[in-house]
Amino acid sequence: MSTKNKLKILIAAAEVTPIAKVGGLGDVIGALPKALAKLNLDARVIMPFFGAIDKNKYKIKLIRQNIKIGGTSINLWLTKIPDSAVPVYLIEHNFFAGKKIYSTALADGSKDMKKFVFFSQAILENIKAINFAPDVIHLNDWHTAAIARLLKTEYKTDLFFKQTKTLYTIHNLANQGIIKTKNYMAEGILNADLINTVSPTYAKEILTKEYGAGLEKILQTRKKDLYGILNGIDTNFFNPATDKLIKFDYSAEALEKKVANKTELQRQLGLPQDKKIALVGLVTRFVGQKGVELITENFSKLNCQFVFLGTGEKKYEDALLELAKKFPRQFSAQIKFDEKLAHKIYAASDIFLVPSRFEPCGLTQMIAMRYGGVPVVRLTGGLADTVNSKVGFTFKKFATNEFYNILNRALKIYYEKLKTWRLLQLNGMKQDFSWNKSAKEYLKLYKKLVKIKK
Ligand code: ADP
Repeated sequence: MSTKNKLKILIAAAEVTPIAKVGGLGDVIGALPKALAKLNLDARVIMPFFGAIDKNKYKIKLIRQNIKIGGTSINLWLTKIPDSAVPVYLIEHNFFAGKKIYSTALADGSKDMKKFVFFSQAILENIKAINFAPDVIHLNDWHTAAIARLLKTEYKTDLFFKQTKTLYTIHNLANQGIIKTKNYMAEGILNADLINTVSPTYAKEILTKEYGAGLEKILQTRKKDLYGILNGIDTNFFNPATDKLIKFDYSAEALEKKVANKTELQRQLGLPQDKKIALVGLVTRFVGQKGVELITENFSKLNCQFVFLGTGEKKYEDALLELAKKFPRQFSAQIKFDEKLAHKIYAASDIFLVPSRFEPCGLTQMIAMRYGGVPVVRLTGGLADTVNSKVGFTFKKFATNEFYNILNRALKIYYEKLKTWRLLQLNGMKQDFSWNKSAKEYLKLYKKLVKIKK
């Protein structure tokens, strides 16, 4: 197909791994466009040029200066998603000059409102300036949701966008972008041509009061336009056979090599070095969603070591630090964002915890399985779509004793039934978590969008 006939997709997001990442949103935007490009789409990404982004590392080049937006102007920069030909545009403006992507770990986003509304407006003006008229603008979370409304209001009669449709992907309904009576998440849901979220189970859950975060009624009005597409992971970036961030590479065929990563991590973190003891990992944002408060002092009775990596709300950080202080031979709490350490933990863990209160998709359980870790997860959202008794352990009720009991059961099997344990590990490693399948699902949605009459 010539470039002319390719579907043109602009993916707009606040995070793009590895250029700027806070959590799963970045991972999705860093990987999905690469899989789309393989399906012969002209997929491009646009993001803010945050102060923390390494200009040299990503060879970011200035391509346009002084594009006017309201009373101000921006500069436009260009790079590619590493190891791909996918263009990434970066918008430079004072709004984004700070070091942090989001100013707070809290969900409402009120401090970042102006910055992301500006980002949304700037995106539309930018693509006009570079004359890239997309068939679909793929919006991600509330940060870019305003575009759906702008195209139906201020830009409605703008001929440049006469063919442009919007897909709004909800990565996490908990972060809504609320200020006074305005709710950007709701605006995206109401105005986008189609909507999807990041797993089939979460797509159903959010229609209920329990999981709808106050938006269930609005979502119900768009039920027939709402889809669930499971996220993939970047299977090149997360690959124990080639991972440069871990010390000892291994694969399903040589799984016995995994254990060297465990003793190496124990050494690095000052835990007793012991090949046999089960190492239990957790890598996450420490926020209410993630269920870290289910891990109590009682867990010190379990025969295993715990390694926690994450940042977030202070109360959770403090609680985990306290455990590590009280039981230094058993708990290690690393309060930081550290990609390398995350990979080391995936490689070292025998068991990996995801006890979320709700979980739109969840990537860490998939990454853990790719590294031969056995996930222990709460049965919700994407966790329910990716973990079953062939690959791991699940619990239903959000309660510390349920979690404790299931982890205890997992440990019993780990210590007493080696064959069963190996099978769980190998089944997990055999899963196809690549983006290939899900990218085809997105392609179907894009094609559906193109057919919608305006
Ligand atoms: P969420 O998007 O809610 O944060 P996901 O499970 O979808 O959760 O994605 C989390 C991603 O962020 C994973 O790639 C995980 O390894 C990474 N991550 C989370 N916290 C940290 C941290 N402190 N250091 C390094 N990586 C982290």
